Amino acid sequence: MSNYIVLVKQVPDVTQITDNAFDIETGTLIRSRLAGVINELDTQALAFANYMKKISADPDGKIIALTMGPQTAEEVLRYSLSRCADMAVLLTDKALGGADTVATANPLAFAIRRIVKEILNEDSDYYVVCGMQSVDGDTAQVPPQIAEELSLPCIAYVTNAEFKGGRFEFTRIISGGSQVVAVKKLPAVITVAKYEYPLFATFVATRLANRTEIICWSGDDIKATHIGAKGSKTRVIRVFPPGKSTRKCQQLGDAKSLAKLLVDSFKSGNGRSDKDSNAQIPRYVLPGRRADRFDRSFERTKKENEDFRILSRTLKELGIGEISRIDEYIKKKLLAVAGEHFHKGALEDMLNGLQLTEPSFAGEVWVVAEHDSGAVHPATFELIGKVRELADFLETEVGVCLAGHNIEPMARELIAAGADNIYIIEDKLLSVFDPAAYRKVVADCIGTYWPQIVLFGATARGRMLAPMVSYRLGCGLTADCTSFDIRDSSRTGRIAILLQTRPALGGNVMATICTKDSKSQMATARPGVMKRLPPDESRTGRIIKHEVRFSDNDISLEIVKMELGAGVVNFNAEAIVSGGKGMQNRDNYERLVGSLCDCLGKKLDTQVERGASRAAVEQGFVERIHQVGQTGTSIGPKLYIALGISGAIQHMIGIANTGTVIAINSDPNAPIFKQCDYYIVGNVEDIVPQLVQALEAR
Ligand SMILES: Cc1cc2nc3c(=O)[nH]c(=O)nc-3n(C[C@H](O)[C@H](O)[C@H](O)COP(=O)(O)OP(=O)(O)OC[C@H]3O[C@@H](n4cnc5c(N)ncnc54)[C@H](O)[C@@H]3O)c2cc1C
Repeated sequence: MSNYIVLVKQVPDVTQITDNAFDIETGTLIRSRLAGVINELDTQALAFANYMKKISADPDGKIIALTMGPQTAEEVLRYSLSRCADMAVLLTDKALGGADTVATANPLAFAIRRIVKEILNEDSDYYVVCGMQSVDGDTAQVPPQIAEELSLPCIAYVTNAEFKGGRFEFTRIISGGSQVVAVKKLPAVITVAKYEYPLFATFVATRLANRTEIICWSGDDIKATHIGAKGSKTRVIRVFPPGKSTRKCQQLGDAKSLAKLLVDSFKSGNGRSDKDSNAQIPRYVLPGRRADRFDRSFERTKKENEDFRILSRTLKELGIGEISRIDEYIKKKLLAVAGEHFHKGALEDMLNGLQLTEPSFAGEVWVVAEHDSGAVHPATFELIGKVRELADFLETEVGVCLAGHNIEPMARELIAAGADNIYIIEDKLLSVFDPAAYRKVVADCIGTYWPQIVLFGATARGRMLAPMVSYRLGCGLTADCTSFDIRDSSRTGRIAILLQTRPALGGNVMATICTKDSKSQMATARPGVMKRLPPDESRTGRIIKHEVRFSDNDISLEIVKMELGAGVVNFNAEAIVSGGKGMQNRDNYERLVGSLCDCLGKKLDTQVERGASRAAVEQGFVERIHQVGQTGTSIGPKLYIALGISGAIQHMIGIANTGTVIAINSDPNAPIFKQCDYYIVGNVEDIVPQLVQALEAR
């Protein structure tokens, strides 16, 4: 008999963000101005647990909903009880507030331990079922971190389950396809990426839910080791509105004007101006290398930079060239001149900061490589390009952690891409990616050499592996970063720290985060955002073999079936036409995408390749090899045409480096319209034939 502990979360309703929900000064979201709703993917997780219970034909299996949050989070538990939960547990305590993912996963794991002990009577036949991620955090880190704390296997991105031979087999999304897996041993954590069969509340169930007593625990009741802001391993230092899209987002009235524009924009080259958004930012220099020893122009916030600029100017005006000469009399003078900018305590901190020149972290800057079938994932090369820059700022070397079987041949390419040292963990048992096995060997390697920065690609695999590895090593982790920089926080005594910037709250805000109380700074980075360096075959590097003792017992999952794309697709083509779920069926895909590719190919005198969204692939419109996006291929053509594609983040990540993006969609509010250059609101079945005709007439 399996039991199910379903994690549910109350989140701000980010679909209804109004202008007054933001503090104009700081750009911060005022949460109290938004309604609290249950996280959409958690409703799917709840329905999924109910489905698991149903297909295993086990009426005795309990579904226990668990949430952590303020007292108002009780609402999501009542929601769960009115759908299918038998019991509900609320973890609530002021001390738990302000938590990052570590300080969220840790108390939840401790609460799960208590549920297992007191409610499930130590029965280990249970699943922790979670939504893949929450809309406010967007990190997907908590479930793998819970798995790590409880030493459980974790199956992420689950989309379906079957009950066969007395066990569950789960279908999950992986890079380039899907996989059917079963856990070798229970209990286990699963994260649900999609389950579109919501449960509805009946009148009777709602009345019962309102009468059911909710079990309430405080921080003390569960004895967690990391709670609240204090137990967190990351700190948000700045929240700001996202910059306006650099895409033109221009609506066109008809297919004729689109035909003209298509030909013109293709001929005029790549229409993007933000190819190197970091170009204007000054390169970081370590304090010890700066010409002026009072130069603190690389602080992490504008205000700190400004304060140090005023301090350094005032010191010069007072003729002070040595910090050792600053006594109480000088301090008084400094405050007399600059006291309106900073108070006495801040001045003391700044003067202490001025004495620091050594970086707070030591060691190399690393990338954890991802690869499949002997080929390195493009995201790994992009990250090497970025860490090369960071390592040069920090005057250290670039390392790549490469785990797998028969992997040494890949080292050459990684060195040519910018790496200095390749740390190889070679074992036959690593020939297929198993999260538990990989997290063990990768964490062992990082924990041996302790690089100061470790980046993972925010691919399906990286977003699963990184939380487990970082949690195991007691380090903070920032998810899905879109930019990195090295800066000082001299006032808090930290020099050359990694600033990690990422979108949050469904892309409504950007947050800059830094790591705290950790030996290494870790983050995942969005594929398609950083740039790969041109390969330099003359570069040399070292190969360091790292041995880790592990056995078959470390493998957590049995792979039942794998479905990967086969065939040949030229995604280096200059133009790509993709079809999404809006194509409705395979015939339409063939007819509409096919005719537009043929016609454009002739008109533009170039090869035009066919692409697709994941949904189109899953509907069977086209083979998997054509999938564009996070778990498909990241592309960068001059021209991309999206037909009947909504613009989900996982799709758009894959086209970040594209020249001109054009969308045709029947929904006037399709998200893709805010992320493309030109669009037409209309039915693809009408617009595409008109477009082909207009192109042929030109
Ligand atoms: C871990 C993970 C990885 C993922 N990786 C990828 C990935 O690599 N690539 C990817 O694409 N997705 C990926 N996804 C899925 C992604 O979240 C979206 O579900 C998917 O991109 C949606 O595809 P779509 O836009 O075709 O379908 P939908 O979101 O269903 O959108 C269909 C669109 O078609 C429009 N439409 C309908 N009919 C018509 C018509 N007749 N004419 C014009 N427009 C019409 C609708 O208005 C709608 O906007 C991933 C998800 C997860 C969880």
